[in-house]
Amino acid sequence: MNTPLNRLRQSLVENGVEAIVVTDPINVGWLTGFTGSFAMVFVTQSGARFITDSRYTIQAQEQVHGIEVRSFGAPRKIEDEISDVARDLNLTEVGFEPSVTFATHDRWKSIFGAVTLRPLSDLLGPLRMIKTSAEVEKIKAACRLADATMEHVSRLIQPGVREIDIALDLEFFVRRQGATCGFDPIVVAGPNSARPHGVPSEYALQPGDFVTIDLGAKLDGYNSDITRTFVVGKASDRHREVYALVLRALLECTAMLKPGIGCHDVDAHARRILDESDLAKYFGHGLGHGLGRAVHDFGRLGPGSTETVTAGQVWTVEPGVYIEGFGGLRIEDDVHVTEGVPEVLSHFPRELMEL
Ligand code: ZN
Ligand code: ZN
Repeated sequence: MNTPLNRLRQSLVENGVEAIVVTDPINVGWLTGFTGSFAMVFVTQSGARFITDSRYTIQAQEQVHGIEVRSFGAPRKIEDEISDVARDLNLTEVGFEPSVTFATHDRWKSIFGAVTLRPLSDLLGPLRMIKTSAEVEKIKAACRLADATMEHVSRLIQPGVREIDIALDLEFFVRRQGATCGFDPIVVAGPNSARPHGVPSEYALQPGDFVTIDLGAKLDGYNSDITRTFVVGKASDRHREVYALVLRALLECTAMLKPGIGCHDVDAHARRILDESDLAKYFGHGLGHGLGRAVHDFGRLGPGSTETVTAGQVWTVEPGVYIEGFGGLRIEDDVHVTEGVPEVLSHFPRELMEL
């Protein structure tokens, strides 16, 4: 079966790796379904062990299937578990993820004893890029919630309302649906809208402001990530001109997300469009990123990207223009790459809204 565990084993074989210990919670979640904060998953080409501690014994029994679960509590220590597992699995060498810190590696050196620790490149990130249909369904559910949240907060936009009040209401809305915000929501208006990742402030909306709202809902372990930009009151000709170009970049780049195209080619197309009005110089970030268990998941649609668009991936497409003194805007959708026409997963209207 094409399970995450089997795909990781295939990758171990291809990369000549005897065993790996997985501790990054995003990778642990993808591999096993476990959502707790502490676990070590040992995977060899034929065996596997899952270690957690007594805080998560019941949760691990419920969530982890097909891997032997070991859970320890006082007086046993993690050292005891690791030496037992190393003996069970006949480990002589174990690879570890790039996310392991220098301090952890130092500590592990004494804990692992005779087992050699081997730094590995990110083996799981590229595997996580290709989603199963069950994963796509979960991202769709997270996108539906993001759409509903955007709909809810768009009704709050009017002169005098502060950025922080919209952001707070947004979080309440998401959490009342049993989800969490995958990241601190961005609500930036007027001069603050020129900051792509600005923090909501006490600034009160004024007529003629751009308001950019970037939000994500995390539901059942999977994320959505959408952005819309509104105008408070009447849009100026300049608002319309810049918005139209960013929207065109979004739509044309989304349509390009078909198997075989280079990720950097999609990004380059957005810059070409924006340059028709000399605006590419105001687009400092990449066009998009992989989306899944992490908000900024593995993969980038950027000038330096070397990946190729492949069926089963889910990308954000988020062109933006940020002009100090004038303001900024971004429009962001989530897109599933299929063998045919790309499937757009976020549906909140994209046309310029004057509120
Ligand atoms: Zn976003
Ligand atoms: Zn994003």
